[in-house]
Amino acid sequence: MTKSKQLRHRPLVLVVDDQEINRDTLGIILEDDYDILYAENGKEALSLVREHQDELSIVLLDLMMPVMNGFEVMEVMRSVEAFSRIPIIVLTADKSAELRALQMGAYDFITKPFDAHEVILARVKRITELVDGRQLISAAEHDRLSLLYTRSFFFEYAERLFRYNKDLQLDAIVLNIEQFHSINDLNGREFGDEVLRVLGDEIRAFLSETEGIGGRTEGDRFAIYCAAQPDYRALLDRFQKRLDGISDKVSIHLRMGVNPWQEGVAPAALFDRARAACSKVRGDFQNPLMIYDESMRQKEMLNQRLLNDLRPAVDKRQFIVYYQPKYNIQSQPPRLSSAEALIRWKHPELGMISPGEFIPLFEGNGLISVVDSYVWEEAAKQVARWRETYGFTLPVSVNLSRTDLFDPTLTERLKQLIENNHLDFRDIKLEVTESAYTDNARQMLELIRGLRQLGFEVEMDDFGSGYSSLNMLSSMPLDVLKMDMSFVRNIENSEMDYRLVKLILDIARYLNLCAVAEGVETEGQMKLLQSAGCDLVQGYYFSRPLPPEEFEKLIQKELNIERMDDK
Ligand code: C2E
Ligand code: CA
Ligand code: CA
Repeated sequence: MTKSKQLRHRPLVLVVDDQEINRDTLGIILEDDYDILYAENGKEALSLVREHQDELSIVLLDLMMPVMNGFEVMEVMRSVEAFSRIPIIVLTADKSAELRALQMGAYDFITKPFDAHEVILARVKRITELVDGRQLISAAEHDRLSLLYTRSFFFEYAERLFRYNKDLQLDAIVLNIEQFHSINDLNGREFGDEVLRVLGDEIRAFLSETEGIGGRTEGDRFAIYCAAQPDYRALLDRFQKRLDGISDKVSIHLRMGVNPWQEGVAPAALFDRARAACSKVRGDFQNPLMIYDESMRQKEMLNQRLLNDLRPAVDKRQFIVYYQPKYNIQSQPPRLSSAEALIRWKHPELGMISPGEFIPLFEGNGLISVVDSYVWEEAAKQVARWRETYGFTLPVSVNLSRTDLFDPTLTERLKQLIENNHLDFRDIKLEVTESAYTDNARQMLELIRGLRQLGFEVEMDDFGSGYSSLNMLSSMPLDVLKMDMSFVRNIENSEMDYRLVKLILDIARYLNLCAVAEGVETEGQMKLLQSAGCDLVQGYYFSRPLPPEEFEKLIQKELNIERMDDK
């Protein structure tokens, strides 16, 4: 008997089923490629497993059997180290049993009545072919720390549960540990491992109480595909509590994103959104739970729609450029000095859409340069047109997005813009948001320096919302400092805010920069800025952003003042 082990050159399969007809059928399917052992119940099966533990390539296991059923067999095989490496395929007529079988570590299942013979053979082959690297698969199937499934196995099984169990309604949960890399760095890998182990432990405990499977899908990310839970906050608290017990010195914070079951949505998509929900609450220790809901879904659908509609909108010229004036408030009366071009989208079905809705969206995927070029083109043409009509050159500033600054053709494009419209470089000003400046210093600064050398005036937009230091500011290529709106908002009521604005204006003066305040809505704000020495003001107090036809009235008014001055 023991001799034959060495002689065996075909993989050995154990078929366990109480029905003779099933054993025979599987025998016929497998006999050309495998050596086969048969058992009629769990008890027989286990003794054969014990006897052939080193040579068994696979067990095909019926679940419902007299004497000892398949679940009990799996239970035992899982708990004995030497057996736990033998893969099991479950034979079942009961769809709902598959989930439990997978949870218990089955590799696959074959449904009864049996599928096409080739399908069964292929399934068995797929797994036995892996058996040579048996340790390898078992190591890769379960994560060694959490003992949950590894990424690809988790998603493979989730996919199957979804595909074969249409009646199961499983939610997707993603768990993440805040700042896990710092926890590792500060406390050592051992400690980090312990955290993962304990969390895995609690997740498995949870899964033993409910329907579902769990995996560690990335370093510090866990995924759970399980029956809907009544209270996700309570579930998160439960996991958090386990982690709190690890150490009283190190605080560990979990966050959770949930995407509830949706008819027909496959796990991959379900988990994508659970992950998105989870990353929304990154760093939010007060509210570490986010459930993907109807409003997020709506928002996502709207975003998708806007992304699809962008190109046709450009072709159909649905984008309209509005202009908002900037007034020089140091002259009496304040004089129209320039304007900012601000885009609007006149969508045929969704109506007027403000840039706040689509600019961040397009910035996120590089499409913003399409929009920006459109605006630059429009603005340049407009400046040329006004000059022609009124003999009056009103400089217009346009907004540059961070992504524009990465475009190697940017300088050339802007140069062309000026030349094609027979403008002067002074006629188009460039607004660059503060965060773009501080983002990636050197390269960006070189680029902006080059643009200034051509003759463009560059404004730092939203100044004070980012983190530039006074020190950095002095070496930045800049002409204009445009204070973030938030500084102006409360200057009438808060002495503190007013002093801050004065400080910014001092800095601008010290650095020889022109200072602009935006978001100025009241006369009071305007007066305070005037006496503090602010050069230019933009805001509803003077005018909202206007379409070109209406803006022309401001130009005409300005020309009248000029004429009066001349008298
Ligand atoms: P921003 O560059 O800071 O533009 C100023 C925003 O403040 C504009 O909003 C303007 O309408 C608004 N605003 C002006 N005066 C007041 C006021 O007195 N009170 C208040 N509460 N708000 C005022 P808008 O037009 O909705 O634009 C929002 C942002 O979208 C802009 O912020 C800018 O970052 C971006 N944006 C607009 N057009 C473009 C564009 O063509 N290209 C790029 N890349 N970004 C653009
Ligand atoms: Ca701006
Ligand atoms: Ca701004």
